[in-house]
This record gives sequence, structure tokens and C-alpha cells, in this order.
Amino acid sequence: MRTLAPTPDESTVAYSAAVPRAAVDVEHALAAVRPICDDVRERGTEAVLDAGEKFDGVRPAQLRVPASALADALANLAPEIRTALEESIRRLRQTCIAELEQSLVTDVAPGATVERRIVPMQRVGLYVPGGLAPLISTVIMNAVPAQVAGVPGIALASPPQAEFDGLPHPSILAACALLGIDEVYAAGGAQALAMFAYGAASDGRVDCRPVNLITGPGNIYVAAAKRHLQGTVSIDSEAGPTEIAIIADDTADPAFVAADLISQAEHDPMAASVLITDSDVLATAVEVEVDLQVDTAKHASRIRTALDGPQSAIVLVRDIDQAIDVANGYAAEHLEVHTADASAVAERIVNAGAIFVGSHTPVSLGDYAAGSNHVLPTAGCACHSSGLSVRAFCKNMHVVTYSESALREVGDHVVTLAEAENLPSHGAAVSVRMSR
Ligand code: NAD
Repeated sequence: MRTLAPTPDESTVAYSAAVPRAAVDVEHALAAVRPICDDVRERGTEAVLDAGEKFDGVRPAQLRVPASALADALANLAPEIRTALEESIRRLRQTCIAELEQSLVTDVAPGATVERRIVPMQRVGLYVPGGLAPLISTVIMNAVPAQVAGVPGIALASPPQAEFDGLPHPSILAACALLGIDEVYAAGGAQALAMFAYGAASDGRVDCRPVNLITGPGNIYVAAAKRHLQGTVSIDSEAGPTEIAIIADDTADPAFVAADLISQAEHDPMAASVLITDSDVLATAVEVEVDLQVDTAKHASRIRTALDGPQSAIVLVRDIDQAIDVANGYAAEHLEVHTADASAVAERIVNAGAIFVGSHTPVSLGDYAAGSNHVLPTAGCACHSSGLSVRAFCKNMHVVTYSESALREVGDHVVTLAEAENLPSHGAAVSVRMSR
């Protein structure tokens, strides 16, 4: 990992420009995904299947996964994986139920109410990555909040796998079956998201109906497709290649810090691992630990590529105050805090997808079973976007109800403002009632 010093210009904007970032960003990947999405819009199912053949090395026999394949996958799921999935579901469901917002009625004046009515999205498309690793846990992270929100139509897509006859990975199918999700498609990347956005048909038959919202993480092409399709559909956030930033001082355990940097680098050669520290001694110790631990890692080559890429670095700072500013400028997907007073540092973070506080709260815990959601904004998007939650699957509608006397009470103000805006017919719609 290379070592950087932060920019001398100490504004969050300057830090945001100076922190390590990937060489290939979402904007670059847009050029690759636009033609794929256009092809799916024009040719429907055939285009999705063709893209599967091109990018995943297998053309699925059919887009929709048969019910029998889902049932078989669950029947063959190892019992210990099933138990772990059930605990992960239980914890996330508990958080989602607690976070579910209730409708709220405000009495604005006598006879005048404004209700904020919460309604679930009616049809959503969940994306579960399957290129480099079968992310079973992502089925849970997408589906549990959708189910708690009460979404009536849930579809899910994951890339077809050559070794499983063009079906998504069986453990992903098993997790779908465990959660009762039966509308599952063998489609990956931009073609899957375009299928959700535009729908897909073949021979006059509708194979997948369009959705209102797409959620879920993926590689850079998935993030780019979300950016491209936003507007046609709603998205949760651009949840692309994983990032971890760690703020650590000289009290941190270098073995823990190294393990956590490596754990996220394991996701993707484009994953980012960034250590922000005010301690030269810790920085050196972490470098030694990283070398030791990578040597024995299963995916050592992928991890090394990620750690040696321009997106990863050790950033040396003056003190923990500056570390906080750098972290807020970076806006990491995952931010860990390993300092003497970790909670106080975490309190001052305003830009991160999720914060993991203290040396016993590794990101891996959040990846699987913390009760938090692991679908989180990347590439600086945590400045404006939130991680996936039950909220993403809900819409707010204002329901406004005024009695005649309540309208009379405020009517003159409406007429005055309508005239000030040179929209007298707006005022007339109130005056006609007040004149009765
Ligand atoms: P994936 O399912 O995201 O991507 C596989 C798909 O990429 C393929 O189906 C293919 O259609 C497409 N693709 C591959 N090469 C392409 C090309 N040259 N042009 C166009 N499309 C192409 O699976 P993955 O690759 O394993 O990536 C999973 C990603 O998800 C990792 O980057 C991981 O870090 C990320 N992730 C992010 C979060 C988050 O919340 N931000 C959470 C979990 C995982």
C-alpha cells in the first residue's frame, strides 16, 4: 500500500479531491453499460440472454428460474449455512421493524389536517452479485427490508453461472427460497438492471414486468447501470466496488486493522482499503501485518491488486481531528474507528455509508450478521446517499383534508400569493368557494 500525506488545503472539498480513488470510475463504466441497456430496451429477453452469454459465459435456458430449482436449492442447503442465514435474517428484521416509519397526522389548524401516509413501493427489483463470489447475504440485505416495508411485488436477479447450467448460484437460490421469494431471474450486471427498468418480453410474451425501484450492490458496471437507469426507475444508491476506511491511533491493534483492510480487498480487485492514522508506528506495523496476512489469504492475488491499486493507501495525518476531516472528505462506504475514544470520534463523522465503532466491531460483522444493512453507497456517494434500509422501500404521500371553515380561514392568503405569482386562476379556485 502506498503512503500519502493529506493535502495542505484543509477543507473537506480539498480532502475529497485528494483522497485515493479508483482509476476506473462510474463515469468511465457508463460507456460500456449504455449500449447494453439500450439493447435490452429494444430487444427485451433475447438481449438479456445474449449479454449473459457474452459476460457470464453461459446463455441461460430461460430467464426466469423455475420453482423446482428454488425448492431443490433450499433442500440441499447445508444446515449450518441455513442456521447462520436465519440468524442474519432475524437480526436485520428486528432493525427493520424498529425503523419502519408510521403514518403521521398533523393538525395544522381546526378542521385542517396533513397526513404523511407511508406506502410501500409496489414492485421492486433486487440485485444480488454473483461474479466473483456468490453473495448469499445480499439476498437477505435486499429482501428483508422490502418484506418488512410490505412491498407486494418482489423480483430478484443474479448472474447465471456456467457451472450450474445457467442458473444463479444454488446458495443464492436457497436464500431466496428461505425468504419466500419466487420471482428470480438468471441475469447479471447492466442487462439485469435494464430488464428491471424496462421490462423484458420475447415472442409477444412478457418475461419480466418493469419495477419501480432497483436496489442492491454490484461491481462498477452495476453502479454505472444504476446511474444510467435512474429516472426510468428509482434506485437506492450507487453501491459499487467495496471500500473500507479505518481511522486508527497508536492504541489500535495492527493485526485487527490489517485483517479488516484485507477483508474488504477480498471483494474485488477494484475494492479500496484506506488507513487514516496519526501514528507512524501503527502505519509501519499495519504494513508488516498486511504482508503476513495476505500471504496466507485464499484470494491473495485479488487482494494484492486491490491494496496496490490507486484506490488504496495509508494516509498519514497530523492528529485525529485531521483524520476525521479526511474521513468526512472521503465519505467511505464503511468507516471503522479504532481510537482511544472511538465513540467520540464516530459522533463527528457526517459522511460514511456505515460506521463501525471500536476494535470489536469489524466490517465483516456488518457484512453478515450485525443487524445493519451491508448495501451501502460508494465512491463518495455517502455525501448524499444512505445505505439500504426499510425506508428505501417506502414512499411518503401527503394526504391533505380541509373543511369549509378551515379553507375560509386561510383562503385570503392563498389568493394573495396566487396574485403575487401572476397565477390569478389559482386564487379564483379558492375565491369561488369562499363566495358561496
Ligand atoms: P456482479 O454481479 O456485480 O457483476 C457481474 C456482472 O458484471 C456480470 O454479470 C456482467 O454482466 C457484468 N460485467 C462484467 N464485465 C463487464 C464488462 N466488461 N462490461 C459490462 N458488464 C460487465 O459481481 P462481481 O463482479 O463479483 O462484483 C460484486 C461487487 O459488489 C464487488 O465489487 C463488491 O465489492 C460489490 N459489493 C458492494 C457492496 C456495497 O454495498 N457497495 C456490497 C457487496 C458487494
